[in-house]
Amino acid sequence: MKNITERKFGPQTRAIHGGEPSRHGVNGPIVTEIIRSSTFTFSSTAEMKLWAEGKNKAYIYTRYGNPTLTVAQKKIAALEGAEAAVVTSSGMAAISSSLLAALKNGDEVISTAQLYGGSYRLMRDIFPNMGITVRQVGTDLADLESLANSRTKVLYVETPTNPTLRLVDIHKAVAFAKKHKLISIIDNTFATPVLQNPIALGYDMVVHSATKSLAGHSDIIAGVAVGNSNWMERVRQMVIYLGGSMDPGAAYLLIRGIKTLGVRVERQCENAMAVAKFLESHSRVARVHYPGLKSHPDHALARKQMRGFGGMLAFDLKGGLPAARRFCDRVQLFLLAASLGGVESLVIMPIYSSHYNMSNEELRRAGVSPGTVRVSIGLEDKEDLIEDLKQALR
Ligand SMILES: *Cc1c(COP(=O)(O)O)cnc(C)c1O
Repeated sequence: MKNITERKFGPQTRAIHGGEPSRHGVNGPIVTEIIRSSTFTFSSTAEMKLWAEGKNKAYIYTRYGNPTLTVAQKKIAALEGAEAAVVTSSGMAAISSSLLAALKNGDEVISTAQLYGGSYRLMRDIFPNMGITVRQVGTDLADLESLANSRTKVLYVETPTNPTLRLVDIHKAVAFAKKHKLISIIDNTFATPVLQNPIALGYDMVVHSATKSLAGHSDIIAGVAVGNSNWMERVRQMVIYLGGSMDPGAAYLLIRGIKTLGVRVERQCENAMAVAKFLESHSRVARVHYPGLKSHPDHALARKQMRGFGGMLAFDLKGGLPAARRFCDRVQLFLLAASLGGVESLVIMPIYSSHYNMSNEELRRAGVSPGTVRVSIGLEDKEDLIEDLKQALR
């Protein structure tokens, strides 16, 4: 399909047909094949010379690019409404390559304090060794102006956040980044391109852990960065240097998963809302963190900037750590596992997973308590999910 990024195609049509080669007027497969080749032949030394001079875009070696990866990239770019995308071996490869494409020794980053644990630890443990200073801001972006100086280069945010589902006002973040000429990068993993498209709102780069909702079946580790062609060329160079390129087999599963993203996310939103309402009414539950609930501090913002409230939620048990452990050990349908965005519903305790080596002060800032349970809602029947929660809370 040509011009799949054109407005007239809806997001689900772009998810299915975007990036795929034209299949009209040919006797060919519908499904994009896995090009399982590490290297590619050249027709002549003349063609190779042109490649070396940067005058053609021939495939040479899969770390530099591969036809299966290209389809995945074009599909995700179409879905996010961006010019280009770079797929990577993991979400962390996309995050580290995007940040390092934008930063050098002496630069500063402003980042939300509430981040995916891996991103948080990368900035806490590795960036200082590289001479990169990280300054943290709350999800309300309250102190932004006082944190910016002439060395600030990047504004990095995540919304909704893991695990308490706090939101960052995307319009506010973009306006600040533009005013201070910062490169804006956003982790859109929790929202998915179905629920929000930050590029359309002015963001420079979007990153995803494609391991999660994009692939959607808990069977690959994958990532992607999305943005304009210039930025994606820089990210691609960083991936080539650091080696975080995607395997073509993973790209095949990613392409396959994305085709059903729209219906999966819709169902997860519906199930999550039902589960959130059930938990909120339960006597053993102290608090439910779900942006779809009126009690959530960012409910109004979620209504404004998201097209649905997502499939992720968290809750705090009144009995604290022992109660959370008992609950997680007793679920029978929900599975006790890390990760999210797949078809199976999962529970996890952030203090034993994403937030494992953090101080009490760090946990407090992240809004995580020892009794917090994070839930990733899958595609099961919501009545069965609620029954399982009932028996585990009993
Ligand atoms: C899982 C996750 C990541 C890291 O992605 P990997 O694919 O595990 O490397 C980054 N950000 C968010 C929000 C995540 O949930």
